[in-house]
Amino acid sequence: MREDWQERFAETPGVLKSARHQHTVVPVLDLEIGGGEFVTMAGPCSVETEIQLLATAEHVGRAGARILRGGAFKPRSSPYSFQGLGLEGLKMLAHAREKSGLAIVTEVMSEETVPMVAEYADILQIGTRNMENYSLLEAAARTGRPVLLKRGMVATIAELLRSAEFILDHGNPNVILCERGIRTFETATRNTFDVGAIALLKQISHLPVIADPSHAAGHSDLVPALARIAVAAGADGLLVEVHPHPAKAWSDGGQSLDFDGFDAMMEDLEPWIALRELERLRRAPGSSRRKTVEAQVMETVG
Ligand code: PEP
Ligand code: MN
Repeated sequence: MREDWQERFAETPGVLKSARHQHTVVPVLDLEIGGGEFVTMAGPCSVETEIQLLATAEHVGRAGARILRGGAFKPRSSPYSFQGLGLEGLKMLAHAREKSGLAIVTEVMSEETVPMVAEYADILQIGTRNMENYSLLEAAARTGRPVLLKRGMVATIAELLRSAEFILDHGNPNVILCERGIRTFETATRNTFDVGAIALLKQISHLPVIADPSHAAGHSDLVPALARIAVAAGADGLLVEVHPHPAKAWSDGGQSLDFDGFDAMMEDLEPWIALRELERLRRAPGSSRRKTVEAQVMETVG
């Protein structure tokens, strides 16, 4: 890593790459995040009904997602909006895991509910509004569950790294960073997708980086393009909102892909992911798999 980055982020040495520590691979059930395989996490913004969740899990799993997302505790800006099903939603997520074999990522919003959420979730999601809620970060860290830490909507990269360092410092090395867009003067998109942050984080930090194109875009028709850009920027995976009937979704319907849209996105991403794999092998010369992968890439890219 360049010395100026080292100096700039000197207050968070624990999350920076070092000669001894280049990559953190986060184990989640039989999966590895940050281990080379591109991992897609997909599902509804909110858990609504058993049918909605099971249909989505089955569909996204078939299309190549490895992790099911869905909020049971929802941070809503309006007190009159749907706040999530709570414990009932967590039970539906666990049932969906049993049926689909997908791991579960779900948001935890308060310190008091950490033990309950950790009992059902494979990954604890810390939302953008809670990135600097240190008592929540500490409680989440102590469960030992992997933590998906979303960047605060007005947080700098240094601040995101500070929160990540805080979790590491409380004994939990399994932190996954998530770029989900930041607030800027632009309002046409819900947030501004900071792809520079993805590229930089991959350069300076050993932690895996996941991109959330749904909350960045705010519009489903932009999601596939942002997902493609995330792959090119070096993200280790995606967090994407998918709903059987986006128009009827209880939250974030406008940015949720329907099943056909998700299939199309996953298919569209294949050659980009293959190119990334080739690039990775190029950087590790002498790999015996290189020739096979090169041939596969040429076939996929056509
Ligand atoms: C979500 O993932 O549904 C969510 C609320 O995300 P964020 O915290 O990034 O707004
Ligand atoms: Mn959402």
